[in-house]
Amino acid sequence: MPIARVEPLTTARALRGPFDYLIPDRLAGIGVGTVVEVPFGARRITGVVVDLAERSEVDPDRLAEPIRTVGSGTTPELVGLGLWVSRVYCSTPARGLALVLPPGTGTAGERTRPRMEKLVRATAAGREALTGGSRLGRRQEMTLRSLLEGEMTTATLFERSGAGSSTLKRLEIRGLIERQQIEVRRRPSRSGFAVEASPAPELTGSQARAVAQLTARLEQAGTGGSEVLLAGVTGSGKTEVYLAMVEKVLESGRSAIVLVPEIGLTPQAVGRFEARLGDRVAVLHSALTAGQRFDEWQRLRRGEATVCVGPRSAVFAPVADLGLIVIDEEHDPSYKQESDPRYDARDVARERSRASGSLLILGTATPRPESWSRLPRIELAERVDGLAMPPVEVIDMRGADPRAGPIHPETMEALTAVRSRGEKAIVLINRRGFAPWLTCQSCGHHWGCANCDVSLIVHREAGQLICHHCNHAEPIPSRCGSCGGTTLTRTGAGTQRIESILAEHLAPMEVLRLDADTSAGPGGHGRILGRFDRSESAVLVGTQMVAKGHDFPEVTLSVILDADATLRFPEFRSEERTFSLVTQLAGRSGRGRAGGKVIVQTLAPGAPSINCAARHDAPGFLEGELERRAELSYPPFSRLIRIQMAAEDEALLDRAAAVVGERVAGALPAGSSLLGPAPMFRARNRHRRRFLVKSEPGAGAAAPVRDSVEAMVTEKLFRGIALSIDVDPQ
Ligand code: ADP
Ligand code: ZN
Repeated sequence: MPIARVEPLTTARALRGPFDYLIPDRLAGIGVGTVVEVPFGARRITGVVVDLAERSEVDPDRLAEPIRTVGSGTTPELVGLGLWVSRVYCSTPARGLALVLPPGTGTAGERTRPRMEKLVRATAAGREALTGGSRLGRRQEMTLRSLLEGEMTTATLFERSGAGSSTLKRLEIRGLIERQQIEVRRRPSRSGFAVEASPAPELTGSQARAVAQLTARLEQAGTGGSEVLLAGVTGSGKTEVYLAMVEKVLESGRSAIVLVPEIGLTPQAVGRFEARLGDRVAVLHSALTAGQRFDEWQRLRRGEATVCVGPRSAVFAPVADLGLIVIDEEHDPSYKQESDPRYDARDVARERSRASGSLLILGTATPRPESWSRLPRIELAERVDGLAMPPVEVIDMRGADPRAGPIHPETMEALTAVRSRGEKAIVLINRRGFAPWLTCQSCGHHWGCANCDVSLIVHREAGQLICHHCNHAEPIPSRCGSCGGTTLTRTGAGTQRIESILAEHLAPMEVLRLDADTSAGPGGHGRILGRFDRSESAVLVGTQMVAKGHDFPEVTLSVILDADATLRFPEFRSEERTFSLVTQLAGRSGRGRAGGKVIVQTLAPGAPSINCAARHDAPGFLEGELERRAELSYPPFSRLIRIQMAAEDEALLDRAAAVVGERVAGALPAGSSLLGPAPMFRARNRHRRRFLVKSEPGAGAAAPVRDSVEAMVTEKLFRGIALSIDVDPQ
């Protein structure tokens, strides 16, 4: 009898499979991707068939049979992808497989099932009965008349005809109607940001050229896939190029996946796909109910929908015959998952396109240095309609009078001009709350978080001091707890302070704020962005959310306050992040006939990221950045793996860190080195340490790191210590 190799869907270490089971005739349909319930010792567990074999190493007498199959399971292609993720990102097979199974499989959500309903239709005899001779009761007649409109669910029929189930039963016995069980799909409502269904515009010359080049690549992608960077300035019409390519792929009978940064943050982009492609689109994201997510997944699996639009997890969409993956705004950090399995959807997409022979398009105005150096590229150098890129003015804040506040007089003047012209502006400050510091003027006491080594942020609206790491909150004090002083100063600015300054200076102009505090809850972003869109003249103030790919033609001014805030992060990607933030924000301005401009306030006007962004010079920035990375041997010239440790007991943590350092260093292959342990600030009451493995690309450091860490965590010394591995950390 054939053998099924089953990987348990549990993270218990002792249950690391795969384990062999005999497939009995009654379960002959079992294949790779089937979810099964199997006996395991005295227990029953759920697992996934990851392989089939002719014979097992285990004595046939000792092999058990699966008890039953569970749900629809997944495809062999996706099983391969899930296991690939678990290997590459040092996770477990169970966690990797959970990414590719129907939502809820093997968890508490497993009770999610298709919603079944009965569909009723009139038979030919039933339709005849209405016209001639047959004797029909009044209820029966009403029922048949209602059904002349077409088939409908029992519930609808009851409502329309006023009949009950006994009537239906009698009609059914007489052969006048027939009933059938069907699955009904719980569909999420549209993305909230109404975009009218619109035909494709005629492509511009550069868009048409890009589509032609991409089509040629699509045709070659058949074996081993193909990958290309679509480097198009902001407003160059990348979305139309994606749409044209998706339509091409659908016409050829294949399917497509479109990844967008975060659905809540980019309702407009999703709306454009829904408007053009209609019911062929399924949307997968975290704001769906369990039932909706399950059903959208099934629509893709059954081919009822052939395009999946969603955030990073949509890279695992169960579409058959994949032809195209698009990653919009490929520079966006949200493509990396920050919890186990810590996968990068861009790399998963590359693996999937390779394995399925499909085309992968990474599109952005601010490519990552990795993509720029590695990929063939197609450029869209101009905005649609020949609109000019907006001029950028850099204001050096080092000489500014601090009493003037966080908004420079020149900036305020430009905003006032927007008000008098009745236009719109966007102001970015990458920090929420009112002010980032509260200090006592008399003794210098500074309010910090009791659980984390960071400042508490003043949230004036909530009347609280809030920790942005652990959400600890306490009322804003009226006097200093150390000296009793009553002069407390709020230093620095966040979105709330900017909002109140602008509301005061620009009244009666509408000032809207978009940050995590104002947009909480499903559809929150769409609500605020929609209001900004409909407003005659308004200012939108917010965190980096305001810079994400929105398209508002009436915006004639973009302002970024404290543009170098991201530069102050001690991280090798800080230049890249700053460049992309400033460029993306600049890209929101001047998308309409009225043109536009950009103001950048900074303490670091000389930084290459700010300089190049001001000149709209992405190639210049990227060449310089790649040189710098080569010198310091940072990605893409090396690969990084981060090992992070956290514990309440600092002494214990240091002892354990010493062991990790020694063992991991001993396990590393040639061409790699270990840096650390470096202390990190305490968070959520836990002390933290970090190691970094730097290796030559292809050195294969991930497996030995994972093996040595896995061996350690079972030891007594590591009880009470959290250990995590992050491959290609962001
Ligand atoms: P990007 O994503 O490159 O920033 P978008 O795709 O948002 O640019 O396009 C910018 C604007 O131009 C949008 O309003 C879009 O509807 C419009 N647009 C794009 N292509 C065309 C075209 N060929 N003809 C007319 N308008 C277009
Ligand atoms: Zn805290």
